[in-house]
Amino acid sequence: MSQRARHTALIKALAAELGFAACGIARARRLDEEASRLEAWLQQGYHGSMAYMANHFDKRLDPCELVPGARSVISLLYNYYPQQEINPGKPYKLARYAYGKDYHKVIKKKLNHLFTRLKEEAGDINGRYFVDSAPVMERQWARLAGLGWLGKNGLLLSKQKGSYFFLAELIVDLELDYDQPLPDHCGTCTRCLDACPTAAIVKPGVVDGSRCISYFTIELKANEHPPADLPPDGWIFGCDVCQEVCPWNRFATPHQEPAFQPKKALTEMTAEDWQQLTQEQFTELFSGTAVMRTGFAGLKRNIARVNQHLEGEAGNKNSSNSR
Ligand code: SF4
Ligand code: SF4
Repeated sequence: MSQRARHTALIKALAAELGFAACGIARARRLDEEASRLEAWLQQGYHGSMAYMANHFDKRLDPCELVPGARSVISLLYNYYPQQEINPGKPYKLARYAYGKDYHKVIKKKLNHLFTRLKEEAGDINGRYFVDSAPVMERQWARLAGLGWLGKNGLLLSKQKGSYFFLAELIVDLELDYDQPLPDHCGTCTRCLDACPTAAIVKPGVVDGSRCISYFTIELKANEHPPADLPPDGWIFGCDVCQEVCPWNRFATPHQEPAFQPKKALTEMTAEDWQQLTQEQFTELFSGTAVMRTGFAGLKRNIARVNQHLEGEAGNKNSSNSR
């Protein structure tokens, strides 16, 4: 076995050992074909007020800007699909990825371990690892590494596993064996486009981030509000609609990561508890989770928005009953 093949096999074995659901490797190169797509997306303002998306344009396209002499981009998937939905059928919904501990911390630890072991084996190599934390075109790299295709909802989809995954990357200046991209299996399906509550999927594969519920429940500052023309919904942090309707997610299996288990108190929240949520309860429920990103005030704003909708619905029911 060549040294390259040995290193490749080691990486994939370690990834499996660390609980990653899949690992693929692509040759590091500038993603020239993505430049015009990214530019058009930014020009349309689809990034909303996420200014960081427009920064580091070159770094985003070229892994050598992040790791000088980069040879390989190792992409990894980490399953977050929960055993059970929190409060199914209730009006206050959290995206499934936010149920447990903050994935950045959980996955970074694993990446650190993977990189340390690789260095022990391969010697003096340079590299950096990322999980949603740097200007890396993670979905594109995962696609190039043969982990799936980019669905019409803009997410990476795997035929065997669906899309409820965190994506992570390790960029190294080490030659490895490379995987091949897979064909697209969306076919004629348009379920995600049809189901998106805010019509944020403007065309197959293009999501107007500024209309996406994930954006305005998480990225907007607490004193900012979503555009008035957006229809109401029950999401108070993130949104899973375009994953829930995707037929490939029938193959999703529950994760085995204890850190992603929701706190018991969170699973027991009633509609009244959400409405009366205090700062103290917020901290107890969400410290160490991704929900801290929106903050107490942001979450309260999101809850108030759902309440407005519920009150409107109740008002409509009453008036139709009295007719
Ligand atoms: S996350 Fe929700 S709002 Fe955003 S594109 Fe998907 S379905 Fe639409
Ligand atoms: S819902 Fe259909 S079109 Fe959308 S990503 Fe899934 S398979 Fe593709």
